[in-house]
Amino acid sequence: VLVLGGIGTGAAAWASWSDAQRDIEEAREVSAVEQSIVDDAVAQVGEIAARIQTQSSAYHEAAALWSESEAAVAQWRAETVAPTPAVPNPGGEVLPGGNEAARALLDSIGASGVQLVFEAGEQNCGYHPAPAGSLALGGCYNSRFRTSLFLAWDAGVGRDAIWPAFVHEAMHWYQWEHYYTMFQAADRLGIGQDAYLPQLEADASCRAVVVHGVPRTAYAASSAPCDVDDWHENWFVEELAALGVPQAAPEVERYEVQAVTRP
Ligand SMILES: [Zn+2]
Repeated sequence: VLVLGGIGTGAAAWASWSDAQRDIEEAREVSAVEQSIVDDAVAQVGEIAARIQTQSSAYHEAAALWSESEAAVAQWRAETVAPTPAVPNPGGEVLPGGNEAARALLDSIGASGVQLVFEAGEQNCGYHPAPAGSLALGGCYNSRFRTSLFLAWDAGVGRDAIWPAFVHEAMHWYQWEHYYTMFQAADRLGIGQDAYLPQLEADASCRAVVVHGVPRTAYAASSAPCDVDDWHENWFVEELAALGVPQAAPEVERYEVQAVTRP
């Protein structure tokens, strides 16, 4: 606004400026209805700002959770804990029929660095000496020993029984190799392994059945039957997702408060 006063009449010029200012302010006056629309709009902007703040915090929290999980897995991959054999396998150092097929299966799933450890001590969490008159067989994959698969059986147990146990444990290795970041994320969310233990076991046996051709009946009487009719490649990941476990780093778009319109 430019108000010109007369030459040498500063007071008049000021008066004119004041009048003009008042005119403008009067022109700006709004009705109660208009004012409430303005107030609503201002409130809405405040609400959106608060939601943006909330979503932003949620995104950063989820991103930190995932990167911490990834860091834990990277650390795990960097270290190899060697088992300390304590009790020899009563069944010996060679699978009935030879170790070649087991080696080939491990190589085929990317487990070339994994060793079969024939061990009947407590590091083989799956083997427990059987009462007199019966035979024991048990294997274990313990992520603490990232590159070991434990297996033990009593003399007299045949390959038909040992092979399914071996493949089941190899599938546990596969789970940690592929899903460990999710397990770490679950743990950080307070979702312990107990929450998905039945799925973990079923997935190991079903992967052995569907992908590696182990007869389903081989696990029927075991502690880990393949009792999932519709098992498929992503089945276990879907089970984890249903429990609220993230599968990947969060996507920032999913935390946006307002959809972004792109041409
Ligand atoms: Zn198992």
